[in-house]
Amino acid sequence: MQVLFFGSPGVGKGTQAKIISERLNLKHISTGDILRDIIKKETELGQQIKALIDKGNLVPDNMIGEIVKETISQSNNNFILDGYPRTVPQIAVLEKILQEMDIPFPQIVILDALDEIIIERLTSRRLCNSCGNIISLLKMAEPETCPKCNSKAGFTRREDDREEVISKRLQIFHETTEPVVSHYRKNYEPIIIDGTLPKGEVTQSIIDGLVKEPVSS
Ligand code: AMP
Repeated sequence: MQVLFFGSPGVGKGTQAKIISERLNLKHISTGDILRDIIKKETELGQQIKALIDKGNLVPDNMIGEIVKETISQSNNNFILDGYPRTVPQIAVLEKILQEMDIPFPQIVILDALDEIIIERLTSRRLCNSCGNIISLLKMAEPETCPKCNSKAGFTRREDDREEVISKRLQIFHETTEPVVSHYRKNYEPIIIDGTLPKGEVTQSIIDGLVKEPVSS
């Protein structure tokens, strides 16, 4: 199975893509995660990418196409692509990659939400310093303990989850990525889900849309 995952920053796209990839045994290809891994290596390329991401800008199309191609080639043609294509030129790059690899055109999932809800979610999003689990301060009665690994190592805010950067990311989403989403809405039949529903309901609606046979949890 092949899936393209869309949604504005903070709608829960990464979280849902991770859950769905585990449930359906697909490779989760997150271009944001791949870029953050490159940054960790502290190379010159990593520094260039960090400077762009920290300010809420996109990285140039030519930096990311090859990375996506290589990762798809390691996926056994079973993947969720989360974060790509994000610009109109990337649509054509992806189509070429799929054609060259003889991969059928993916199913498309779009998670919808209003900007106000996104801003509230992202400003309260943190990552566990021990296991990397994503938590929301809005939903935690005891914000010092990670609900997943029970660590008290604390939480870190992504540099690009600061309010001014969030506004920039949303602006870029509306200007640059929304035309991509509109293209797929117009020319294909995407599965459109309300991203503000409870997490479990969003997951189930996506799975129901993607697979016709029941999937064991
Ligand atoms: P994400 O984790 O998907 O929100 O991505 C984090 C950041 O990585 C984005 O704000 C961009 O700076 C960069 N990024 C991720 N995917 C792409 C892409 N397809 N094209 C350009 N930049 C990207």
